[in-house]
Amino acid sequence: MTRRKRLTLLLVLVALAGVANVPFAVTRLHSRTQPKPRGENYMGDDAARREWPAATPHTRRWPAPHQFEYAHEFGFHYYNVFGEQSGQRFQMNVQLTGWPLPVLEDKKMWWDWSDPTLKGPEPDPALRVVPSGLILNPIIVGVGLYLILTLPRDVFVFFRARRRRKRGRCIGCGYSLTGNTSGRCPECGRPIAAPAPDDRAAEHAAFQ
Ligand SMILES: [Zn+2]
Repeated sequence: MTRRKRLTLLLVLVALAGVANVPFAVTRLHSRTQPKPRGENYMGDDAARREWPAATPHTRRWPAPHQFEYAHEFGFHYYNVFGEQSGQRFQMNVQLTGWPLPVLEDKKMWWDWSDPTLKGPEPDPALRVVPSGLILNPIIVGVGLYLILTLPRDVFVFFRARRRRKRGRCIGCGYSLTGNTSGRCPECGRPIAAPAPDDRAAEHAAFQ
């Protein structure tokens, strides 16, 4: 494959992955009533060691979580986290979808609205796009597909060329170049590469 064809293939694969990125994340979103996959549930100190799964909305810090539920399956991460401080209850319910990185964040939050120190944005903000997932997913998936499609053949061609060179054959077509002085393969017209410096040194050593 020529360099231009390779570049085209790579760009097409990245573009396809880019087109599929957000729609796939949408298909992984769960409705509020849909049962969540079975996951982990941390309480007390085990929960308090964890961070809130997304940004909290106030300048005042939310208390450390006292209950932390987490579950995940392919392209889907789910958090349901509770905190409590002086009788005030805090809750954050987040789903992150997308693959390999999250690209959509659906976050619901609850807190004590009567407290003036907890003035903040409206709860239930709209779905947010995660920029890192939006940019990196197409690159990761596109490059991955490109390598899956091209690497096996590249490795095969590399070892075949090495084998042919060692046996004094054209690396393009395998035709025997014994006694050839034209500098080109008579079968396919490929220029014959000079032996690598290492090979020359080895040949030289062999004659001593
Ligand atoms: Zn040839």
